[in-house]
Amino acid sequence: MISMTIKVDEDKCIGCGSCESICGKIFDVRGGKAKVKVQKELPCVNQAIQSCPVQAISK
Ligand code: SF4
Repeated sequence: MISMTIKVDEDKCIGCGSCESICGKIFDVRGGKAKVKVQKELPCVNQAIQSCPVQAISK
């Protein structure tokens, strides 16, 4: 099993909503912060990482 952990640094996140727009299966923005709903390796996770304006997403 390959283990991976998608993380959002809430101190950096500005709640722009980009990750949720791009990868709504994984990210949910509530109360101005993105949350990871489920740990799953989808191609859109990488797109979300690249789209984040403040580099808050890592895995
Ligand atoms: S793209 Fe980045 S800054 Fe925008 S909501 Fe997602 S984690 Fe936060």
